[in-house]
Amino acid sequence: MVAAPVEVPQVDTPHRRIVTPLPVPESIALFERLERTEARSMHGQLPVIWDRADGIHVYDPWGNMWLDFTSTICVANVGHGHPAVVEAIRHQIDRPLLHTYTFAHAARVAFLEYLIAHTPSQFEKAFLVSAGSESVEASLKLMRLHGQAAGKRRGGVLCIEGNWHGRTLGAQMMASNPAQREWIGYHDPNLHHLPFPFPWVKEIANDPVAFFWKSLEELEQTHGLDPTRDLCGVMLETYQGWGGFFYPTEFVLELVRFAREHDLLVTFDEVQSGFGRTGELFGYMHYGVEPDIICCGKGASSSVPLAFVMGSRKIMDLPGFGSMSSTHSANPLACAAGRASFEVLLNEGLIDNSRSLGARMHERLQALPLRHPQHIRSVGGRGLMAGIIFYNEDGSSGTDLCNQMCERAMQRGLLVVKTGRESIKLTPPLNIDEAALFEGIEVLEEVVNQVIDDD
Ligand code: PMP
Repeated sequence: MVAAPVEVPQVDTPHRRIVTPLPVPESIALFERLERTEARSMHGQLPVIWDRADGIHVYDPWGNMWLDFTSTICVANVGHGHPAVVEAIRHQIDRPLLHTYTFAHAARVAFLEYLIAHTPSQFEKAFLVSAGSESVEASLKLMRLHGQAAGKRRGGVLCIEGNWHGRTLGAQMMASNPAQREWIGYHDPNLHHLPFPFPWVKEIANDPVAFFWKSLEELEQTHGLDPTRDLCGVMLETYQGWGGFFYPTEFVLELVRFAREHDLLVTFDEVQSGFGRTGELFGYMHYGVEPDIICCGKGASSSVPLAFVMGSRKIMDLPGFGSMSSTHSANPLACAAGRASFEVLLNEGLIDNSRSLGARMHERLQALPLRHPQHIRSVGGRGLMAGIIFYNEDGSSGTDLCNQMCERAMQRGLLVVKTGRESIKLTPPLNIDEAALFEGIEVLEEVVNQVIDDD
């Protein structure tokens, strides 16, 4: 049930306009109709009806405008409705060519060639799909096919506890949230998990390499693993999404060294971190490693559903003709949007913008844990991606505080990512300018101070 409308102060700035009670009284009937017709798992977000989204702004039909710090969770990286992306999609619509299944078309050639030409040289081929989870499932298949081709005894994949890879079967097993995968009822005995090296644990911060080996040795003993014969791959979410935590670089370097020694393919899940979000084209670049496979989605098109998995010719051609396909693979609209979005990202210098404005955003956000040491332990993230983690004064999880803050930010015309956990995430479109970014941060600071001081 959507909460009843409340009167809120009017807001009118170049980036935010709030002129009605919230939720808007006229929107309630729409939410009720959705509740009647749609699975409830899709509900529980902030009660805003999106009518139009343009650049860094989101509009409802009743005259309100929000400054968007979500990019619909790292999708609209080049901004909402970028004219080049709209034009590319319109071109396909006007032909019209809306779908081909696996028949070839020019937009598919153009996107793939551009993608391969503008990404590091180990990526020679891609397989296009529609969702991030699909790309993750494909990477699992590729890692296991590699293991079989190499004559390994088992198809073991090393994953990291608490990482997120999507909601399909393999993706949920690779992510290790026990509550989230309870519905499956069993666990693939060849998907293994190492603990995440959280930056605030002293033992880990002091020696991430020792932590890696200790965790690995425990795992090898528990499961009787011979790494060369029983493991075929490593799967890393580039940073832990809910809070934006990166691994210590030494941890990743050691893990990759280990993978190379035992012939394991290294996969990074770049679904959230790809396409400039962290101030590099791909987030793994912060670690100075070269993965064999990456999974991408979300920001790949900044718009319509497009995801892919990418690797060397040898890896990507492991599956035979027709044995890795998908009805909507390489959809013409998705390919056109993907090419246009990637061109905009590169030609408008948005990765540099993410890096430089992101650095300033993080510098400013560091003041929050200093002001509220009892409630904020850390601010994670890089580039235009930040995760702020909240606790109650007794040390328990600050999920309720976060939910209140997201709601109050919305009432002031700012949309931030409500994670449903003890974190708030800030992921504005990468074409945001300094004035808008700092206007949004100021609103967030006021809301944080207000909610904590009221607590
Ligand atoms: N991997 C990561 C890191 C993600 O953040 C997500 C989506 N939140 C996925 C995979 C799954 O992507 P999709 O929802 O498109 O299936």
